[in-house]
Amino acid sequence: MSSAQPVVIIGGGQAAAQLVGSLRSQGYTGRITLICGENTLPYHRPPLSKKYLLGQLPVEKLLIRKPEYYQRLDVRVMLGCPVSAIDRAARSVALDDGTQVDYGRLVIATGGRARGLSLVPEHMTGVHHLRSKADAEALRADVFPGCRVVLVGGGYVGLEVAASLRMLGCEVTVLEAQDRVLGRSAAPPIAEHLVACHTRTGGRIHCGRGVREIRGGAAFSAVVTSDGEEIAADRLVVGIGMTPNSELAEAAGLACENGIVVDENCRTSDPDIHAIGDVACRSIGGDCLRLESVDNAIQTGNIVAADIAGADRPAATAPWFWSDQYDTKLQMVGLAPANAQWVVRPGDGDRLSCFYLRDGRVAAAQCLNAGGDFMVAKRLVAAGRSICPEQLTDSAMALRDL
Ligand SMILES: Cc1cc2nc3c(=O)[nH]c(=O)nc-3n(C[C@H](O)[C@H](O)[C@H](O)COP(=O)(O)OP(=O)(O)OC[C@H]3O[C@@H](n4cnc5c(N)ncnc54)[C@H](O)[C@@H]3O)c2cc1C
Repeated sequence: MSSAQPVVIIGGGQAAAQLVGSLRSQGYTGRITLICGENTLPYHRPPLSKKYLLGQLPVEKLLIRKPEYYQRLDVRVMLGCPVSAIDRAARSVALDDGTQVDYGRLVIATGGRARGLSLVPEHMTGVHHLRSKADAEALRADVFPGCRVVLVGGGYVGLEVAASLRMLGCEVTVLEAQDRVLGRSAAPPIAEHLVACHTRTGGRIHCGRGVREIRGGAAFSAVVTSDGEEIAADRLVVGIGMTPNSELAEAAGLACENGIVVDENCRTSDPDIHAIGDVACRSIGGDCLRLESVDNAIQTGNIVAADIAGADRPAATAPWFWSDQYDTKLQMVGLAPANAQWVVRPGDGDRLSCFYLRDGRVAAAQCLNAGGDFMVAKRLVAAGRSICPEQLTDSAMALRDL
């Protein structure tokens, strides 16, 4: 394909922002149009549950790039314009107002939306989710010191919001239906350590307790847990994950399963249409996975930029992720199965690192307040070198010497 064919990007989040920059740096000179349903230039979502929710980050700092950046790159940015359909035969997309935009290559970067709790009546006030800047602003404006908040869901976003609300002076109770928080993704010692951070500051975390009923008339007033306790509260925050925005792709007949299925170049079942970021489901280590992380948005944006510009595909790197709760930083690299056996390297004080070995090689690591360990762990995962567990657990031996 000639690099002059127009690229249209649906969505304006982390992945889209990465793609436009990477396309230009790879030498793509054609027309680029970025169309986003939200009325804001691409912004960082991680601070929404952390510093932005706490009111510690000015709104300008949320933007991934300033407006001049898109002008300099000659990117046409259309904000507040949800795309309503993809016409593959005509190679165009339709906007809500009926406008058609033609594409040579189309990239779907529509991310996802917060998953709702079906028990919550429509239009009930005092109920929040957290996916967008507007959600974070609405939540911050609706809580107050002493506000009693029930937070459903003990995943990363839920726990980060719980920590921030606690720091804002709220009384926070987290309900997690599974028998532990972060059950699918964190090593048990890491999860235990994080729970201790919450309980130390007066946050309550109840595992093995789901939601049976939501009470209140027009306004939320209480949750009845799966074991029958009524917890009266002022606000409800639902943090039970997200649903990929793959409906446009499904309606256009593209293969979808837990997101939009893509190949190693992030091409969908139509080779002129790509999908990147949270909405894309791609093969990683033999499994078809949909990752929700900044790193994944950046990696997939770079992969598609190279494909469109005719450059070599960037070398695959192990996925990584971070989470901040109170003053605790968790950094993770690589993927481990839910039932992984972890090798624990104790640290002093609040530091802790866990390693997952597959066939004697470090395949994943999770480090709490241990930035130095994490830097080494990233290199160990990338190198795929054999290592014996005793070397990892010997805290007298500096990890970097490995
Ligand atoms: C509260 C929160 C905290 C997080 N914390 C971390 C963290 O600490 N570390 C980490 O690695 N990751 C974190 N993440 C995840 C990370 O932010 C996401 O993985 C990343 O933003 C995904 O980028 P994306 O571009 O794929 O999707 P998004 O950022 O969701 O962007 C998609 C955009 O597409 C738009 N869109 C959707 N449908 C249409 C349509 N039909 N037409 C036009 N536009 C459309 C949406 O409005 C949105 O603006 C966090 C996410 C959240 C919500």
